[in-house]
Amino acid sequence: MSSLIQGGIVIIGGGQAGGWAAKTLRDEGYQGIISVISDENHDFYERPPLSKAALTQESLSLSRLFSEQETHALNLQWFRPLRATKIDGQNQYVHLSDGRVITFDKLLLATGGRPRYLSSRWQQHPQVFALRSWDDAQKLRTALLSAQKIAIIGGGWIGLEVAASARKMGIYVTIFERQSRLCERSVPQNVSEALALRHTQAGVHVITDCGDIELGEPTTTGLQISCQKQPSKNFDLAVMGIGVELNLELAKEAGLDVTHGIVINHQGQTSHPNIYAAGDVACHPTLSLCLQSWAYAQNQAITTAKAMLNPQSEGFNELAWLWSDQYQDNIQILGVPTSQKLKHIQRYTPNSEVHFALNESNELVQMIAFNDARAIKLGKRWIQGHRKLDPSQLADPTFSLMSLK
Ligand code: NAP
Repeated sequence: MSSLIQGGIVIIGGGQAGGWAAKTLRDEGYQGIISVISDENHDFYERPPLSKAALTQESLSLSRLFSEQETHALNLQWFRPLRATKIDGQNQYVHLSDGRVITFDKLLLATGGRPRYLSSRWQQHPQVFALRSWDDAQKLRTALLSAQKIAIIGGGWIGLEVAASARKMGIYVTIFERQSRLCERSVPQNVSEALALRHTQAGVHVITDCGDIELGEPTTTGLQISCQKQPSKNFDLAVMGIGVELNLELAKEAGLDVTHGIVINHQGQTSHPNIYAAGDVACHPTLSLCLQSWAYAQNQAITTAKAMLNPQSEGFNELAWLWSDQYQDNIQILGVPTSQKLKHIQRYTPNSEVHFALNESNELVQMIAFNDARAIKLGKRWIQGHRKLDPSQLADPTFSLMSLK
């Protein structure tokens, strides 16, 4: 074996979760070595702008998580662009793609995910784009600048945000979604309808229940795409938005407990006492699903970094929350759908729209607000306090929700 490098606390993954973990370790006073293994050459950056400003704005610079000075002050031992190829949990080593081996006292897996493609044929097509990294966004922006009509495969969050950005650039958009409605897994029917309405009003052609999507023979101009509901049509490019494959291979090969994500406790600790996980790959400790949201990646990583230094520190216990900006709307989602029977209540005001899902005891389970961040703040308190709510008050736009503070 080549000579060992002392890694101290090793973080695999240079994304949102990895970045916040490194920052938190230093903020909490850790002065030892922090090593970060990242397959990107960039410093830590924010991903939300990738589907928005990074596509629509000219010469936008990297949306850094921390300024250059702050990043420098973290005094990190970077290994980039490199991949971790193996974790040896028994000896506490991480093997790198260039053959080197790093020791770790504690290890954080913040390996995130990679875009899913319909097939390798789609993946290899030069006019098919995915959107996960800053470099992906740069390539997609360049291609969009000369595109007139594009296909988006998948009517989830990436698909809808890219559709809104492309319409802003005057590009014709068709969305192919195999479910009967948009964002089916994360929002109720009435919210899917509200989203579809906004996109169709903006000129997007939304095809739901699309069935199998076929990629035709190569053309000199773009690509031919068809589905069961639409005959073959020419597009300048296609964007994949059908979810991600989580990077779980290292964790599985290291023998950690993995279900649909890496199993962790509230402290972010995996089934190995010195290995932790954060962000997309870390199964939410109580919801038992991988949230894959900006807020979870940041806040769960902060909690985990604190616990890596102090096992007595408070565990992660936040509600699921995500947001999306599309056209003029700021959409915030609190809570996740459940299999229990829920009552759905809508509240419409001239500038906002709020959807509430209540359980049989009239307690809030999920809330989706279009342009009403204050209502979401209240909702957080109602869910945490198991507050019983009156559906008729919620639906009444003249009733002040603030009076339920
Ligand atoms: P996503 O939100 O999970 O949406 C993917 C959509 O594509 C789903 O509706 C999915 O339906 C559909 N789909 C899957 N396979 C398909 C197929 N073969 N043909 C047609 N449609 C298909 O995933 P995403 O939009 O790709 O985003 C990737 C991840 O980043 C997600 O975890 C997402 O939450 C996150 N993200 C978050 C934000 C935000 O918080 N604002 C923004 C962008 C991305 P099924 O349910 O049947 O699979």
